[in-house]
Amino acid sequence: MKAGGREEPREEREVLTAYLVKNRLKRSEQREAILDAFLRAGRHVSVDDLLRIVQKRRPDIGRTTVYRTLKLLRNAGLASELALKGETRFETDWKRAHHDHFICNSCGAIFEFSSPEIERIQEEIASGLGFRIEGHRHHIFGQCRRCASRPARERR
Ligand SMILES: [Zn+2]
Ligand SMILES: [Zn+2]
Repeated sequence: MKAGGREEPREEREVLTAYLVKNRLKRSEQREAILDAFLRAGRHVSVDDLLRIVQKRRPDIGRTTVYRTLKLLRNAGLASELALKGETRFETDWKRAHHDHFICNSCGAIFEFSSPEIERIQEEIASGLGFRIEGHRHHIFGQCRRCASRPARERR
C-alpha cells in the first residue's frame, strides 16, 4: 500500500517483530520483504505465486526462504493455510473476518463466502454434542461457472 510514494507502516510488521522477539528469532529484512510481498499479493497465493512476486524486487530470495517464512507468518497469526488438492495456498489472516471457500477442481479458482446461518447451525450442533468449536474451515469443491459450462473432456 502506498501513500504519497512511501511505504505505509503496517501493523502486520509489528506483529511479525513481536512474534520473532517472543520466540527469540532474528529479525531479518528478507522476512520483512516476504511479508510485504505477501500483503501486496492478494488472496490465496501458493508458495510459487509468492516466490514470483518476491523475486521481482528481490531475486536473491529463494523458494525455501519463502516457504519457511510463510509457515512462520502462519504461526504468528498473519497467514492461514489452505490445504488443497496437491497444493497449499496461503491467505492473509490478520484481522480478517472469518470466511469459507468454494474451490474449482478444474481451474483452481477460489471464491470466498460467509454465512451467519451456517455458522449458527454448526454452533447449535456442536453445543448439542457438548463440543467446543475452536475453529473450522469449509472447503467446498466443484466446478466454477466457467468450467461448468465447458464439456468435461476439455477440463483440466
Ligand atoms: Zn474453474
Ligand atoms: Zn479466503
